[in-house]
Amino acid sequence: MGATVAFQASERGASVIGIDRYDPPHSLGSTHAETRISRLAVGEGSHYLPFVERSHEIWRELEARTGAQLLHLCGGYIFTEQEPVPGQRWEDFVTETAAIAAAAPSGPIPFEVLDPTTVRADHPWIKIPDHNKAGLEPTAGLVMAERCVEVQLRLAEANGAVIRRNEEVISIDPDEDGVTITTTAGHLRADRVVVATGPWFSDLAHPSHAEQVVVTRQVVYWFEADDLDAFSTERIPYIMWIGARDEDYFAVFPTPPGGTPAVKVLGEQFLETTDPSTVDRHVSRAEIEAFHRDFVAPKVDGISDRCVKASVCLYTNTADDHFLIDTDPRSDRILAMSPCSGHGFKHSAALGETVVQVLFDGVSERSLEPFRSRV
Ligand SMILES: Cc1cc2nc3c(=O)[nH]c(=O)nc-3n(C[C@H](O)[C@H](O)[C@H](O)COP(=O)(O)OP(=O)(O)OC[C@H]3O[C@@H](n4cnc5c(N)ncnc54)[C@H](O)[C@@H]3O)c2cc1C
Repeated sequence: MGATVAFQASERGASVIGIDRYDPPHSLGSTHAETRISRLAVGEGSHYLPFVERSHEIWRELEARTGAQLLHLCGGYIFTEQEPVPGQRWEDFVTETAAIAAAAPSGPIPFEVLDPTTVRADHPWIKIPDHNKAGLEPTAGLVMAERCVEVQLRLAEANGAVIRRNEEVISIDPDEDGVTITTTAGHLRADRVVVATGPWFSDLAHPSHAEQVVVTRQVVYWFEADDLDAFSTERIPYIMWIGARDEDYFAVFPTPPGGTPAVKVLGEQFLETTDPSTVDRHVSRAEIEAFHRDFVAPKVDGISDRCVKASVCLYTNTADDHFLIDTDPRSDRILAMSPCSGHGFKHSAALGETVVQVLFDGVSERSLEPFRSRV
């Protein structure tokens, strides 16, 4: 989020300073593990559609400018129970996504609802049971997370932005004429500030914003495949598998060109909250074995139990699982934009553009209204 704001503001010729406590892209926050799912048909709500649509345009513009491959449109499956599951985060995600896709303001987004027999016929390695249903979006794909950060920071610097790495912001204090930022290296003054500190959000956010988010530990695994080519972005769509309980979630990511030579898979958990300073960043052998036994083996064929890499990543969620992007109650000069509830990356390029429009023009092409503070 910070990289996209720095890039977009620098494109307008603004004087930009980006400050990060580490050296982005890095693996200590929420933006690592190579790939992120990007769906044009966003079942979380139609208000997200303009953001992901514009983000896909921006990724393509950045690819043309830099030669970097950022977006792989491999298509994507969503699997859910046949019947809605009341009380679940997303009760009937395939049906909700299909309705949003059909009614998309810029024209229907291709999204086909399929029965399990059709999925198994097309992809015999997927053990989708008869009590599930599927949605397939051919225009969905994977976006390369670290590469997007790296490209946007590089272009921002080429535009004259100063990116200060390994420098921690300690406080952000607004007054009538501007904002004083105190870091481990000293003080600086800014006219406007965007706070995009991801899972560290609560450290610098206004207390009324900080109290609205929780951070959870998530784990990403890469297992060797019997035939890695069969799992490439050229050959298969990703799978987002939503089970009867929130903790049944399972996702399979095809391997992009140049990616870790293994299949990336992950689950989700929301029961234990954590903090970036205390989170257990080690993934134990027992966790790896349990994940393969309980998720990988029962659901897909062809992915071995040999784990080549595992990584801890952090979600920053609000209670309703939507975004929190709003001006700080202390001053309109400060805008907080990070808590994106585990589904923010696909929208990030357009969010950065929109936040910059709000800060510089007071109006934006896309509305941030749905993401305002809930208190
Ligand atoms: C496992 C996992 C899977 C996901 N899957 C998807 C997906 O498939 N699709 C999707 O769209 N989204 C997905 N997401 C969500 C998406 O990745 C996040 O919404 C997004 O990457 C968050 O970016 P961020 O900039 O808010 O946070 P971060 O990337 O964590 O960036 C915050 C930055 O702030 C810096 N910082 C913090 N505090 C300070 C300070 N005091 N001073 C200076 N710098 C500071 C940190 O060093 C860090 O670089 C996933 C997230 C995870 C963890």
